[in-house]
Amino acid sequence: MQPVRIGICGLGTVGGGTFNLLQENAEAIAARAQAPLAVVHIGARRDNPACDTGSVRVSRDIFDVVADPDVDVLVELIGGTTVARELVEAAIRAGKHVVTANKALIAEHGNGLFALAAEHNVAVRYEAAVAGGIPIIKALREGLAGNHIEWLAGIINGTGNFILSEMREHRREFSDVLAEAQALGYAEADPTFDVEGIDAAHKLVILASIAFGIPLQFASVYTEGITRLTPQDLDYAEELGYRVKHLGIAKQGPSGVELRVHPTLIPEDRLLANVNGVKNAVLVEGSAVGPTLYYGAGAGGKPTASAVVADLVDLARDLSAGQVSRVPSLSFSNEALRDLPIVPMAEVETPWYLRMEAEDRTGVLSRIATIFSDHGISIEALIQKAPAAGQATVPLIVLTNRAAQGRVDAAVAEIEALDTITGQVVRIRVEPLDG
Ligand code: NAP
Repeated sequence: MQPVRIGICGLGTVGGGTFNLLQENAEAIAARAQAPLAVVHIGARRDNPACDTGSVRVSRDIFDVVADPDVDVLVELIGGTTVARELVEAAIRAGKHVVTANKALIAEHGNGLFALAAEHNVAVRYEAAVAGGIPIIKALREGLAGNHIEWLAGIINGTGNFILSEMREHRREFSDVLAEAQALGYAEADPTFDVEGIDAAHKLVILASIAFGIPLQFASVYTEGITRLTPQDLDYAEELGYRVKHLGIAKQGPSGVELRVHPTLIPEDRLLANVNGVKNAVLVEGSAVGPTLYYGAGAGGKPTASAVVADLVDLARDLSAGQVSRVPSLSFSNEALRDLPIVPMAEVETPWYLRMEAEDRTGVLSRIATIFSDHGISIEALIQKAPAAGQATVPLIVLTNRAAQGRVDAAVAEIEALDTITGQVVRIRVEPLDG
């Protein structure tokens, strides 16, 4: 058996984990891959003390790995979209297969990279780019290939889920938990990608493309973060039988595709509502299979290495069968990819949780109810809470039935203009997740 010769670029959390996993499980991996997977070259600006690279060639310039004729597969684990894109394009042009964990690169430049790879008859694989160790790409591309995928919803950012879990369980403020997440190493020094939903949007767009057969279109994802959520809203949601989760949601309907990342109330008895801490989970509704749920570690060196190595094994199997890219990059063949319309957010219909601070006077509730009715929004529940100590206003919580965002925006603008309402109305979408 000829070994598959691997070059790893980036020896950080995932690169180091991948190198170590390939050594630790070498025998079983070779037996499954039908060839040894041999790391022959590493590109790393510095050593990783967790990796004993032994006699493996190490270059400080990652582009030396691309130039190495002994490398068959380049594993890109440096992150980012600038140098990583140059590196991956150079590898493809040099006739090397590529495995990457880089969701930003695939979400933003995947269409071009897959086309370039097809031109050069090489494969680009990216299982680790979504939900770390959970084999969700394989499940969607292969396990569910017989289904029409109707929708999927996922907790696909572990940092955000850790923050929301802590806020709910310990009634803590967002900023307080974020500081702890940073101290624990769950959140980056610059947490924008995680807490503003950009990381989740990168992953969602990849899942949606594979699920629906549409080209990658990161710019089309509506993205709302978790920074404005308060323990108070998490509490009220719970009183109503819901949990608040930061979900990536992709739906396919008669008017097109919905692509959105935002805080969401989900019924507390749903499995997704009970995914806590840094764990990830993706719920997929297939026309034949119904709902299936994929749960596990969405990040970390070893879990992510598990996905990188799975791609390497797949690639080795394809190569031993004399094939490249047995499975199309986005599941559907290139000719079958379709540009489906993206549903504008103003037209996206969900039930809503709305919270406002109102003066405790007669007539306020009926005025609010009239405004909703004028905009064709029906109310599922309206709850008035006791005023907080020292507050002249009372919190009013309204749960609506399904209503398009445009209608809700218009109603909320009228409500906020009332002199009996203080401040802004908090709005959070609700998803029943029942198909
Ligand atoms: P990391 O720990 O920061 O490792 C990245 C490594 O790449 C570092 O060793 C860094 O070297 C090196 N590097 C970056 N730019 C380089 C350059 N221009 N030349 C040479 N070396 C360069 O990051 P990571 O967490 O392993 O993430 C790697 C990729 O995996 C990212 O795309 C990330 O989104 C993805 N991913 C990560 C996880 C996770 O749990 N960490 C999960 C899923 C996917 P220096 O130390 O010298 O900067």
